[in-house]
This record gives sequence, structure tokens and C-alpha cells, in this order.
Amino acid sequence: MPSSSPSNKVVVIGGGVIGCTSALILAQRGYSVTLVARDLPGDLSQDACSLFAGANWHPFQDSSLQVQSWERIGFLKLKSLIPSGLVRSLPWVAYSKTEDDNSYIDTAWYNDLIPDHKTIPKNELPSGYLTGSSLTTLSLAPHTYLPWLLAQLQNLGVKVVRQKVESIEEAAYLVAGRVDCVVNATGLGAASLGGVMDEECFPIRGQTVLVRAPWLTYGQWVSGYEDGTFIYIIPRPDGNVILGGTMDNGSWDTSIHHETTLRILQNAYEAMPELSNGSGWEAIDVISSNVGLRPARRGGPRMELEEIKVEKGGERTVGVVHAYGIGPAGYQASWGMAENVGDLVYKHFRSTINKSKL
Ligand SMILES: Cc1cc2nc3c(=O)[nH]c(=O)nc-3n(C[C@H](O)[C@H](O)[C@H](O)COP(=O)(O)OP(=O)(O)OC[C@H]3O[C@@H](n4cnc5c(N)ncnc54)[C@H](O)[C@@H]3O)c2cc1C
Repeated sequence: MPSSSPSNKVVVIGGGVIGCTSALILAQRGYSVTLVARDLPGDLSQDACSLFAGANWHPFQDSSLQVQSWERIGFLKLKSLIPSGLVRSLPWVAYSKTEDDNSYIDTAWYNDLIPDHKTIPKNELPSGYLTGSSLTTLSLAPHTYLPWLLAQLQNLGVKVVRQKVESIEEAAYLVAGRVDCVVNATGLGAASLGGVMDEECFPIRGQTVLVRAPWLTYGQWVSGYEDGTFIYIIPRPDGNVILGGTMDNGSWDTSIHHETTLRILQNAYEAMPELSNGSGWEAIDVISSNVGLRPARRGGPRMELEEIKVEKGGERTVGVVHAYGIGPAGYQASWGMAENVGDLVYKHFRSTINKSKL
């Protein structure tokens, strides 16, 4: 039987980078946290996105002020993890085969975080490229970073439950006693979760190739291919390198397209022959081809506190903090989103306590 006074219990639904980081911040702030997820760090399931990310920190030019503020927090936190070996500092060059407008580079919002962000003079561009820029960014390896997050949670006493929940209300009754707040970090799952059923959610399919090349010292982006594709090469802290990619809006197809794998390997080699020490694209040491579905949302990510009425054990209000739909930027935004989740959970508890005093 739930008690009538507010508890400090929070249930987080979602075991991706957003759910795990939010659970960690909440546990650090003293809440009693249970994390429930259909897929957990370590799983190879394509039903969750986080394992399949690049993953580097590189903002998109058109991101909202809210996303920028999350990414700012994310940059500082990820940078602080470099000594742990989970994150590496990564010199990065971006080239285009077409004449791009790079005028934003001098005024990009993150230039104070990355002071070496600059346009590459035309006379310094390798042949075949018309514009270019460089900066020093960060990268990480999801298959080591996510288990690290999970271990942090377990060290702080967060209970982790593998379970698919059908609705927000079901989550509010998952643990014994009274749960006053549920965090919805279900990514694309928000489209089919009872009490949410968000029709604005959509996938952005991304296909990549994971290869081994621990000798690489920088990452690279190339755009402007005639067929409209692009290439990225992201060396990770563990010596593996992710080659991408695609951004297929609205595609739920999780199968690997062989021709895309070939295109990625060939163009990545042309851009950076060091991938196989100049021995041809066929000599690149391929580990796997992968497909992940980025959890995007028309109108942008949802970060919002909602109050719902639940009736089991006596009618009361449960706070629901929605934190999903971050699309292609989940890692770089994760720490900022998690802090935002923490603030909204606090806001809900404060208003519940104030109401209980009336
Ligand atoms: C190819 C590719 C490259 C990328 N590169 C980058 C990059 O360089 N930098 C970057 O920042 N981001 C990158 N991303 C994006 C990043 O991976 C995502 O933004 C991030 O993983 C989203 O995390 P999430 O926790 O919201 O969702 P997910 O990882 O999808 O997690 C959702 C969780 O909710 C659970 N769930 C859903 N429904 C239910 C339910 N009903 N009951 C219980 N559990 C449920 C799932 O099991 C899962 O645990 C990339 C993505 C791809 C595919």
C-alpha cells in the first residue's frame, strides 16, 4: 500500500545514454532510483540506439539554444573524463568537395569551448577539396562507456530491472512503496509507450562500419560527394574507428546494406589512406557493419514535466519528466539533458511537498 506522504523514489524508463546518465545524476542528488529498460548497456539489440553511435562531440549548426546549453555541459563533462581513458581528445578536419559557406566558423557558439576552431586556408587544402575547417573535439566508445555508466549506477545503489513497460502508469507501480516521479527516456519507444504515444517521433537510420586502426591521430568529415553522401572517420579511445555513414530520415530498416558498406569503406580510404597504411580499402581491418536508429522528434527533443493522475491505492499525482527525441546528438547532450531532468524532478518534488503541507 503506497504511503500518503511523498517519497524520494524515482523510476527511470530507458537504459540508453539518456536514461543511464539521468539515473546517475538523480542518484548523485540523493534520490532512490530504479532504472527499468527493455534493453540495457551491453546488449546488441537494434531496438535501442546508444550502442551504435559514433560517438563524438560535434554540434550541428542549426541546433536550438536548449540543445546548445546541453551540449556545453556535455563537452565539459566529457572532457573531464579524458584522464579516465573513456574519452579521447581528437583533432578533427572537415572538408567539402563543393564550395561551402563556412562563414559561421568565426562565430560558432562553441568557439569559447574549442578555441582552435578555424577555417583552413584554400592553399592548405588537400587536392579535391574546395573548403575546409579544423578543430579539436572529443570521442568515446559506446561499448565501454555505457557499461561504465551502468557500473556507476550500481555503485550508487540504483536498482536496475530488465523489463519492457507498457505504460507510464505501470512504471509508477514497479517498485514497492510510493513512486512520485517517473522519467521517460525511452527514445523511439515513446512512440508506443502507453500514456505518451508520441506521433512526432521518427528514426534517422545510420549505417556505419567499425574498423581497427589504433595508429590514427585525427578524425575527418568529408561532404559534397556528387551522390549527396558524406563520410566520417571517428577514431575512438580504444583504437577502433567508426566509419560512417548515412542519415536516412524516417527509415526503420535495421538491415545492413552491402553497397553502403562498400561505399563507406572506399570513400573513407580515399579520404584517409592511413586507415590501412596505404594498402587499399580492401586491406582495412573491418570488425563489423552496423545499423542504428537515431531517436528523433519533429519539433525537437522533448524535455518537459507533466503531471498525471494515478488511481491505484488512492488517487494522487505522479510527475513525469520526458527526456527523449535527441536524434543525432544523444552523447554530446546527455550530461546537460540529465542535469535538466534532475532539475525537473526536483521541481516536481518541491511542488508535491508544498501541496502536502496545505
Ligand atoms: C550511426 C549513429 C551515429 C551517431 N553518432 C553520434 C555522435 O557522434 N554523437 C552523439 O552525441 N550522438 C550520436 N548518435 C546519436 C545517439 O546515439 C543517440 O542520440 C542516443 O543514443 C539516444 O539515446 P537514448 O537514450 O535517447 O535512446 P536509446 O539508446 O534508443 O535508449 C532507449 C532506451 O529505452 C528503452 N525502452 C524503450 N521503450 C521501452 C519500454 N516500453 N519499456 C522499457 N524500456 C524501453 C530501450 O530499451 C532503451 O534502453 C549517433 C547515432 C547513430 C545511429
